[in-house]
Amino acid sequence: MVERVTTLMNEPEKIRNIGIVAHIDHGKTTLSDNLLAGAGMISKELAGRQLFMDSDEEEQSRGITIDASNVSMVHTYNNEDYLINLIDTPGHVDFGGDVTRAMRAVDGAVVVVDAVEGTMPQTETVLRQALREHVRPVLFVNKVDRLINELQVDSQEMQVRLGKVIDHVNKLIKNMNPEKFKAGWKVDAAAGTVAFGSALYNWAISVPMMQQTGISFKEVYDYCKAEDMKALAEKCPLHSTVLDMVIRYLPNPLDAQKGRVPAIWHGDPNSAIGKSMANADAAGDLAFMVTDISIDPHAGEVATGRLFSGSFTRGMEVYTSGTAKKSRVQQVGIFMGPERLEVERIPAGNIAAVTGLKDAIVGSTVTTLEGMIPFESIRHVSEPVVTVAVEAKHTKDLPKLVEVLRQVAKEDPTLQITLDEETGEHLMAGMGELHLEVIAHRIQRDKNVEIVTSKPIVVYRETIRRKIEPVEGKSPNRHNRFYIYVEPLDTAIVDQIKSGDISMNLPELERRQKLMELGMSKEEAKGIAGILNSNIFIDVTKGIQYLNETMELVLDGFEEVMKAGPLTREPVANMKCVLVDAKLHEDAIHRGPAQVIPAARQAIQAGMLMAEDGLLEPYQKVFIQVPQLTMGGATKEIQGRRGIILNMTTEGDLAIIEARVPVAEMFGFAGEIRSATEGRAMWSTEFGGFDIVPASIQTEVVGQIRERKGLKKDLPKVTDYLSM
Ligand code: GDP
Repeated sequence: MVERVTTLMNEPEKIRNIGIVAHIDHGKTTLSDNLLAGAGMISKELAGRQLFMDSDEEEQSRGITIDASNVSMVHTYNNEDYLINLIDTPGHVDFGGDVTRAMRAVDGAVVVVDAVEGTMPQTETVLRQALREHVRPVLFVNKVDRLINELQVDSQEMQVRLGKVIDHVNKLIKNMNPEKFKAGWKVDAAAGTVAFGSALYNWAISVPMMQQTGISFKEVYDYCKAEDMKALAEKCPLHSTVLDMVIRYLPNPLDAQKGRVPAIWHGDPNSAIGKSMANADAAGDLAFMVTDISIDPHAGEVATGRLFSGSFTRGMEVYTSGTAKKSRVQQVGIFMGPERLEVERIPAGNIAAVTGLKDAIVGSTVTTLEGMIPFESIRHVSEPVVTVAVEAKHTKDLPKLVEVLRQVAKEDPTLQITLDEETGEHLMAGMGELHLEVIAHRIQRDKNVEIVTSKPIVVYRETIRRKIEPVEGKSPNRHNRFYIYVEPLDTAIVDQIKSGDISMNLPELERRQKLMELGMSKEEAKGIAGILNSNIFIDVTKGIQYLNETMELVLDGFEEVMKAGPLTREPVANMKCVLVDAKLHEDAIHRGPAQVIPAARQAIQAGMLMAEDGLLEPYQKVFIQVPQLTMGGATKEIQGRRGIILNMTTEGDLAIIEARVPVAEMFGFAGEIRSATEGRAMWSTEFGGFDIVPASIQTEVVGQIRERKGLKKDLPKVTDYLSM
């Protein structure tokens, strides 16, 4: 096996890098395990029971998959061996960030949909992410045995139902990405890009498989109806049908990278590195994107990711984006089954796992080319909106806790760890209550640090509501002055910053062009000096002496305010700061950090208060399925939480409710909805954006935040910031 794997990694046309994506409980884990077992990478007896991809104990006990990890398998198709790298993706939406980064590493996705439930909200989310990353889908309709044996549908009705699932997936693809849909990215049973079967009972069938084996739809139905699953699993084994489909219809890295590189990298496609990535050239400069960091007790930090160009060899020196130092690659590994296998050299097109990259984090670009434009940052559909304070139970553990928090943040980039300078507390921000619970548990169990966490707290955003005239910010020595006005930033621009389409990584001309297309004036688009979160700092001054060398410090002042606004010290969002004039002392000694930073900071703080600084709160979209009988209990539960019902449909005796609820009101929802619906509701959540806190409760919310943070009860005034 080792030899087969190491031979195949040198033949890119024999490689498929894929992910399996699904709504929770639709059968992703069962499918992954049985594919691995079928390919002989784990024993058949263990598959299913062992929950292979769920290597984390936490995941097993909760039955959800949290960490994206990689397994590889060899499959023979038309008498030729192929190497299939399967990146695991989590099924719980609180961990949506992991899905995105897994998508970055793969070229194709098997979308799993439960035949009984049909497409669900997270099917939509993961499909959208795949298309966005230019990852091609095929469809596996799972749990077909339940249609036959539990729902007792006849063979005709079964065809109708399967057809409905296919149509619905295609409708989603068409709505999300009409161009790709037109280009043939739909799923089509006749064309072979759909398979259906039972991951649990280890069988699957597709049109090509029926032609190959001569088994008919009716026969499949009859075997299943007779509950002779063993015969079915022998006639049309799951792994053959699904992996054949993967090999035949999902692209190899050579074909895939031509389309994918422009979607995730904004450098010059005609440069040497651009061409090398498009061609997956193993002889080119190295270009590697880190999609996962894990800690191996023996080898230390292991960075896993996709190698787009060049070859990894032990001992080579590489640059990591965002850091100046070079590091030396220690171990170079690929995967065999779930194990990391050390090799001498890994060429482009593979998933590689390497050690020695000291400064790498998830999303880093690792390269041998000095000054390479990094890959676009990984897009997260969600933002961290819930925080807990973390303390070591025993003071002696404090140094260890600091180190452990650094590690968990590296392993999970959707987690934010910050040190509250004033209280000395470590704050951990994540995407929901459950996400933080899981991390806290992991810190205690895997890292052996006993901790105490505070009650979860919602993270708000400060933002302004109108444009103001420039405000003068004076340095303490009065020799430096900055004239800055603030204004709400256009929603279209905010959206593109959040999605990563506009960033400081873009070449300047391209960024200017995009901003002008969105309606920004040329003068402003030319003056972009900094982008932080969804805020922009623009310098429209002309010919001011010493300003260039002082700009770094001005931006430091901007950054300080963006991290903590004047009203509540919550992060700032959706704001444009424009520097229109400045006066600077000619002697550098008198315009150091202690002078310039406060001057810029105070101008922005005062400006924000004048521009009606207010609060935005995060929302969650909530999707609920309940029997119509208990629907009243569910809608009441939403309405009692300041929620809004967006849509309500019925399907048979089921009601499907789509709602939007402030995160602040979501605590304890799991328990309450259970009792309100006699435990018969199925629900899931998704990040739902930010909205203005209603005026009627803003004062109360601001007061609570200030009190919690130990800020003065009296609200700050403009004059506090404009030292006379
Ligand atoms: P995941 O959350 O998508 O990883 O889903 P799992 O693989 O953990 O499956 C969820 C549940 O559905 C488990 O209880 C499985 O045993 C069950 N399941 C998975 N596939 C099938 C199937 O084909 N038929 C039936 N009847 N049950 C299945």
